[in-house]
Amino acid sequence: MKTEFVYFDLDNTLLDHTAAERDAHHDICRTFSEFQSVAIEEWLSTYKEINSTLWMQYQKGEVDRYQLQRARFRESMTKLGIPADRSEEIGTAYMNVYRQYWKWVPGAEEALTRVSEKYPVGFITNGFKETQQKKIEYLNLNRFSDKFLISEDIGVMKPHPKVFEIATKMSAFEPQQILYVGDSYSSDIIGGRNAGWRTAWYTALVEEYQECMTADFCFEQFPVLIDYLNQ
Ligand SMILES: [Mg+2]
Repeated sequence: MKTEFVYFDLDNTLLDHTAAERDAHHDICRTFSEFQSVAIEEWLSTYKEINSTLWMQYQKGEVDRYQLQRARFRESMTKLGIPADRSEEIGTAYMNVYRQYWKWVPGAEEALTRVSEKYPVGFITNGFKETQQKKIEYLNLNRFSDKFLISEDIGVMKPHPKVFEIATKMSAFEPQQILYVGDSYSSDIIGGRNAGWRTAWYTALVEEYQECMTADFCFEQFPVLIDYLNQ
């Protein structure tokens, strides 16, 4: 069946989350004296590990988003032996700085523009409602579609089947007519495939890659996606 509708993931597919996260941590480490004795790479890898563990707990409903936002700095600082008294203040400062470094993934705006001229499109994202809405505004995604699904609104995250069921209904097409473009193998590709969708995997920002990981279509550069959808 032909593709009739295209959904896009947001973080690391349209908005370069990894670069914004990295730049914001560099900024925070320069601003707060607590980090003076720590190498940035060590800090970032510790934070990323603890943050991803907390996200998994958040996904299972074991912590809420406020606990997650507080704990990721406190726990990372404690682990590295940094005084964590100001961890809450630093966590808040981080969220503000993070927003200042948002930018499009290279080529994504052009691709989305071109794809949306030919297909109806929509957006599905895991994450905090408040932050994701700000990203949607920042990228001005409303000019392409009014179909948005933020996981916090429905209480479950990708790859949960409910996310894809709701998105399928929202598109008004059959699952086999929907293509999902995303960077996360476990959330986007597995989730989309399990829902009967077609999947296009954006691999340029993927850190862990195994041969068994497959999608209907893989691409590293957005012009390749445009060509694929223009066939
Ligand atoms: Mg993503």
